[in-house]
Amino acid sequence: MAEIEIILPDGTKQKRSAGITVKEFIESWKTELIGSTVAAKLNNIPMDLSHPIEGSVSLTPIDITSKEGLVILRHSISHVMAQAVQDIFKGVQISIGPATEEGFYYDFDYAETFTPDDLEKIEARMREIIAADYPFIREELSRIDAIGLFQGKGENYKVELLKDLPEDVRIVSLYHQGGYVDLCRGPHIPSTGMIRAFKLLSLAGAYWRGDERNRMLQRIYGTGFATEAALADYLYMIEEAKKRDHRKLGRELDLFQMSDEAGPGLVIFHPKGTMLRMIIENWERKEHLKRGYDMVMGPQILKVDLWKKSGHFDHYRENMYFTQVEEQAYGIKPMNCLSHMLIYKSKIRSYRDLPLRYFELGTVHRHEKTGVLHGLMRVRQFTQDDAHILCMPEQLNDEITAIADFVGYAMKIFGFEYEVELSTRPVNSIGSDADWEMATTALENALKYKHMAYEVNEGDGAFYGPKIDFKLKDALKRKWQCATIQCDFTLPERFDLSYFGMDGERHRPVMLHRVILGAIERFMGVLIEHYAGAFPVWLSPVQAVLLTVTDNHIPYGEKVYGMLCDAGIRAERDFRNEKLGYKIREAQMQKTPYMLVIGDREVESKCVSPRQRDGKNIGAIGVDEFIELIRDKCSQYK
Ligand SMILES: [Zn+2]
Ligand SMILES: [Zn+2]
Repeated sequence: MAEIEIILPDGTKQKRSAGITVKEFIESWKTELIGSTVAAKLNNIPMDLSHPIEGSVSLTPIDITSKEGLVILRHSISHVMAQAVQDIFKGVQISIGPATEEGFYYDFDYAETFTPDDLEKIEARMREIIAADYPFIREELSRIDAIGLFQGKGENYKVELLKDLPEDVRIVSLYHQGGYVDLCRGPHIPSTGMIRAFKLLSLAGAYWRGDERNRMLQRIYGTGFATEAALADYLYMIEEAKKRDHRKLGRELDLFQMSDEAGPGLVIFHPKGTMLRMIIENWERKEHLKRGYDMVMGPQILKVDLWKKSGHFDHYRENMYFTQVEEQAYGIKPMNCLSHMLIYKSKIRSYRDLPLRYFELGTVHRHEKTGVLHGLMRVRQFTQDDAHILCMPEQLNDEITAIADFVGYAMKIFGFEYEVELSTRPVNSIGSDADWEMATTALENALKYKHMAYEVNEGDGAFYGPKIDFKLKDALKRKWQCATIQCDFTLPERFDLSYFGMDGERHRPVMLHRVILGAIERFMGVLIEHYAGAFPVWLSPVQAVLLTVTDNHIPYGEKVYGMLCDAGIRAERDFRNEKLGYKIREAQMQKTPYMLVIGDREVESKCVSPRQRDGKNIGAIGVDEFIELIRDKCSQYK
C-alpha cells in the first residue's frame, strides 16, 4: 500500500498507509482523543471519523467542546430528533434541520400540531436511539437515485431540495442511523451514543424555505452540549436571562416604556429611569472634567452639505434621517463629530493648545431596521458619551493609553469585566494606505504598552479608520459592546484642520472618536440585566423608602423624609393606609436597597430601623447614622 504523510496541528508529520480511516489514525496517534473527537479537518475540510485518508493531508481533530465540534454534535442530535419524530408520528415529512448559534432545530410537516407533551415523548424516544448507539453511516449516490429513494418514502421536501441543486451536482451524500435516512453534507459524530446531553426547548411555526407563500411547517428547537454540566449551565443561563430581561424589569421597576404610539425604537424614560440615567450622566461629566475634557454641545440637525463633506452622506446615508427647513436640506446627526470639528476650526490652533478633548453627551438618531430593534439594547434615538480628541500624531499613544485607563476604571466602578478587540480596515473605506497603517499601528502600540490581551477582527473597522472595541461581560457572561476608540486621519483632512507646530509650519492634527460606556440607553439595559434590577446603592434611583405603620406615624415620617432629602439621599414615602406587610412586599419588588419602617418605637426613640432588600435588619439607628451609612456606600463613586 502506498505510504502517505499526515501533517498534525503542531507541524509534525507521521507516515501511514493510504486508506487508513481518520479514526484509525487518531487511535494510533493519540488514542485518548477518540472519546472526545467528533470529526477531523482534512486539509481544513471537516470529515467523518470513518473517512478513509487516501493521500497526504493536514489533519486537525475537532473536539466535541469546540465551536465546530458543537455544531457537528448539535446537527447530529437534530437527525436523532427527526428519527424519533418519525418513529412516533406516522406520516411526518422531514424538511431541514441545521445547527444554530446555540443549538439546533428541525422543521416537520405533520397534519396535527405538536404539543409540549409531545416534546417529552420525543425526548424519551431520542434517549432510546442514543442508548442503541447507532453508527452514522455516510452513503454517496447519484442525484437521480436519491430522488427515487426519497420519492419512495414520500419525502417531498427532500425531493424538492434535490431537484433544486445546481445542474452539475450529480452525486449527493446521505446519512443513515438506525433505519433513518437524511440528505446531508455531513460530517456527523461517529454514533448516536456520543450524545450525552441534550434538551428540546420549544415549538414554533416556520414557512418552508422561509417564504410566507409556502406551507407553514412545525419547528422544534433544541440544544445539546458535550456534558450534562454544560447543558445545565446553559439552561440556567436562559432561565436567568428571562428573569433579568430589561424590558420586563423596566416595566416592573417603572423605569421606562417603549410605546407604539411614540414609535418603534424610541425610549420614554419614566421618573426612576430618568434618575438612573442622570446618575450615570453626572458620573460621566465629573469623570471627564477630571481627565481634562471640555464639555461642548452641538445641534441635532446640520446642513446636508456638511454631511457630504464629512463622507457620511456617501457612506452612512441609509442610516440617517433627513429633513427640510426653508428649502434647505438638513441631516439629523447620526454622530456627534461634525460640531466638534467646527469648534476646533473656530480659532487658529497651535501645538500648545493640543490635545483638545471635546466631550458631549450627544444624542444621535440612526435608522435601524424594525426587525433588529430590541428594548434599550437596539434603538433609533440614543445618547452617547462621545468625545473627540484632536492631537498631534506623536500624542496619539498617550491619548489612547489614557482612554484605555478610563475604560478600565469605568468597568470597575460599574462592576464589569471586559475584553478588547482591534478592528482593521474594511472593504468600503476612505483614506490612504499610509494613514490606515499609521492609525492601526498607533492603536496596537497602545494596547501592547498597556499589556492588554486583544483579538484582531480583520476588516471590521469603521469606514474612516481602525478601532479598538471593549466588550464588557455581564453577570451571565454575555458580551456587550461598550467603549470604542477610533482613529481618524480622514476627517481632519476633509475639514482642513490644522495647527501651527513648533517649527512655525502648519500641520494636520489626528482625531480620535471615542466613547466609554457607549450608548447610555444600551448601557442602562445591560446594567438592569447585570444587576437583575437590584442596583448598587449609589446607582439606585430610590435608595430608601419610608413605610409608616399607621397614620399616627406620618408626622415623624415626614420629618425623617425631610432630613434624608436635605442630605441628598434619594428617598421615597409610602404613607398609604395599607397593611405594612403589603408595603414591604411592594418595596422588595421595587428592589429598593433600604426600607425604613416608621412605627411607635421609631417615633419614641427618634430613630429608624433600616431593613435591607435581602431581608436583613440593621436594627435601630439614628437618622444621622443612616445618612452616614448611605454616604459610605456611595463614597467610592464620588
Ligand atoms: Zn444533516
Ligand atoms: Zn465621532
